[in-house]
Amino acid sequence: MTKQTPPPDEANKRIKELNEKIVKLDRKLFNFFTLLQAGKAFDNMLEAQKLYNVFTSIVQERFGLEAFALFIRDPQENAFQLVRGFGLDETMPVDYSFPCQEGLLWQAILQDKPFSIIDSRGEPRFRIPHESFRFDYLRSRLFVPLLHQRDVIGLLSVGDKMDGREFTDDELEFINILAEQAAVSINTTMLYEKNERDRKELDKTVKSLSILHDIGRALIHIQDLKNLLQFILGQAIETTEAQKGSLMLWEPTIGRLVLRVVKGLPDPKVEEAINNGEMECSTFAPGEGIAGKVFQNMEPMIVNSTEQNDTYAERELSNVNSILCIPLIASDEAIGVINITNKIGGQGFSYEDLELLSALGNQAAVAINNATLYEMAITDELTKIFIRRYFNIKLDGEVKRVRRYGGQLSLAICDLDHFKSVNDTYGHQAGDVVLYTIAQLIKNNCREIDVAARYGGEEFAVIMPETGIDGAKILAERVRAAVAGTKIEEVPRQLTISIGIATFPDDADDVKSLIAAADAALYGAKNGGRNQVMVYSKEIVKPPEPGES
Ligand code: GH3
Ligand code: MG
Ligand code: MG
Repeated sequence: MTKQTPPPDEANKRIKELNEKIVKLDRKLFNFFTLLQAGKAFDNMLEAQKLYNVFTSIVQERFGLEAFALFIRDPQENAFQLVRGFGLDETMPVDYSFPCQEGLLWQAILQDKPFSIIDSRGEPRFRIPHESFRFDYLRSRLFVPLLHQRDVIGLLSVGDKMDGREFTDDELEFINILAEQAAVSINTTMLYEKNERDRKELDKTVKSLSILHDIGRALIHIQDLKNLLQFILGQAIETTEAQKGSLMLWEPTIGRLVLRVVKGLPDPKVEEAINNGEMECSTFAPGEGIAGKVFQNMEPMIVNSTEQNDTYAERELSNVNSILCIPLIASDEAIGVINITNKIGGQGFSYEDLELLSALGNQAAVAINNATLYEMAITDELTKIFIRRYFNIKLDGEVKRVRRYGGQLSLAICDLDHFKSVNDTYGHQAGDVVLYTIAQLIKNNCREIDVAARYGGEEFAVIMPETGIDGAKILAERVRAAVAGTKIEEVPRQLTISIGIATFPDDADDVKSLIAAADAALYGAKNGGRNQVMVYSKEIVKPPEPGES
């Protein structure tokens, strides 16, 4: 059989067909590799902004477009937000977005394939969903949805090619597959970023909670109001990373906020004086200054540039550029405020600082309230020193401590001389002033560890832990001399005091006999002519008082 050769025309036609097939295959192969590379590039990208950049440059490299825009859908707002683009109308707003929930456009987006924005006559095919949304801004004729598992993630608007040619079916398919890949990657990136945000949020919450937990534990153990206030303020400054701060408490007797503790002042001596209540400080009425406003409204406040803020009456304290002020609220009532000043690093205070400090403030307010109530309960109203009941408990504790660990302690009982005649001559009220003045004078002549209490009407007692009779004599003599040297306007006469001292275990073997010994010494001092200190000795015998056995 002879092989039949096709006529030349036929052969040419088939060669042409084959060539076209080869070109098509070649293009498919090229598309395939581009997609493969794009897929790889997307895979390693967890940052949305980078992903948008790479995606945009792949599209541009492949087609050479005149215009292009990438929109990402915000599911909460159900709006498409422009994230990348080029060749767009210059008058288009930078934060361009358009809402889209229903209508033909939304239907077309859900179709999952490229569709044209304008019809054959050049008219928009879709009702304009929002008056600010204008298709002509985009300078495109084609939209490509980004869908991931039936979820609309975004939208591409694809402008004309620079070579003026129409998109072929292959090219449209290419764009579609690229869009699918991009949708998967963008979805992963968004999930990753959300996870990161959640994790950071959680980290912060855990950190805040553990700070609050530690503070809460510490608060339980501090009963002394001054120490408590200092601890709270220190924690408040530390947790908000501030330079300094102050704590003010409401003083019902004068109806004003009074500065109780400060921390971080440039002059430590001034700071100490304020904290010991030895310095006059400005006070605030409700509504006055930031502190007064926060107190009155029971709402925290951040002021990050105090220059322009004339409500900042605390300004005179010293350089201030940012303030965070929170109310201290206990049982639905404001009891004070914490002012935190100057965030370290110069930036202002954040909402997180405010939240953390408010949480701390809530705990602190309860502790301050308890400590205040406790202090009120153990403080004598007239003389502002401890009551006898507190003295009893302390003395009992000190005696037990000496019994267990050894050492010694001394006790002084003091009685004003001829006090009845002070009352008779100058009146009971003047007598009260004397009692307050002398009580404070005794307290101020004691050491931090001593316990000064009002023992009876015009009798005072001082417990001196870890003090022998010599030390007790020095302290008692200091008190006696101070009283003798005191002048009180309401009572123009010299006031004197008699003091008896005794030591445990030298002079007594329990609390009762220690008090009796100091009391006997006091009797001795009175008998010896008053205005003197008497040390207990066995020779002093105090006659039993009426009713005593
Ligand atoms: P002596 O030198 O012997 O101690 O003489 P005295 O006048 O101080 O005598 P005594 O200790 O018996 O007097 C106590 C007086 O203190 C009697 C009482 O009216 C007065 N007093 C007690 N409590 C108060 C008080 O809270 N306020 C005032 N103003 N006086 C008080
Ligand atoms: Mg008396
Ligand atoms: Mg007296």
